[in-house]
Amino acid sequence: MTVKQKVLIIEDESSIRYFMQTILEANGYDTLTAATGKEGIALINSHCPDVVLLDLGLPDMDGMEIVKELRKWSSMPVIVVSARGDESDKVSALDMGADDYISKPFGTSELLARIKVALRHSAGEGSNPKITPDSRFTVGDLVIDYGKCRVTIEGRDAELTQNEYKLVALLGKYAGRVLTYDYIIQQLWGPNAKNDNQILRVNMANIRRKIEKRPAEPRYILTEVGVGYRMADE
Ligand code: CA
Repeated sequence: MTVKQKVLIIEDESSIRYFMQTILEANGYDTLTAATGKEGIALINSHCPDVVLLDLGLPDMDGMEIVKELRKWSSMPVIVVSARGDESDKVSALDMGADDYISKPFGTSELLARIKVALRHSAGEGSNPKITPDSRFTVGDLVIDYGKCRVTIEGRDAELTQNEYKLVALLGKYAGRVLTYDYIIQQLWGPNAKNDNQILRVNMANIRRKIEKRPAEPRYILTEVGVGYRMADE
């Protein structure tokens, strides 16, 4: 018998808390719930959950404070649950060390997918465990070959420039997770790079022309409006 993974839900709205708990238990997870930040912190300390679902708007504190505190001593995955439209909140939570976010209202499959990715990444200590021992990551007809620094689509070379390759390679390493524009820019062009999204958008448009069948409805690299990009992982 396998040990069930434990998900801590910190959410003050009882209907949402109950909704998440029901879905998770029906899908084989153990759950712990907290309606306040204080209860949540106590449960993190006493139960060491495998993943935390964290509402940012809590009655007794800002959920962001919990992320900040937790990151001082733990890399436990945290998925922020946020209202749709709060792009700046999402970005700050990610900058502070949250692993991902999910926007209310969300559906069952989205919730389960986010949790699966967060758990997989924490098992692989950050990088994508779907990258094979020969350093390849495959999603659909797209293959990133980290050994050869090459991307192929339907078996042929996508002919990416060096910058385009670096961008796809980075997103592939964190497939399924959102990376913020600022994070991507820092990783690609260093800490002194201007946080100018324009250059990123130009590169992404070129990449999509090369790898997507319909660049306006991307299958492989999705835009999270106001936040960043997410590479599909299945
Ligand atoms: Ca709330």
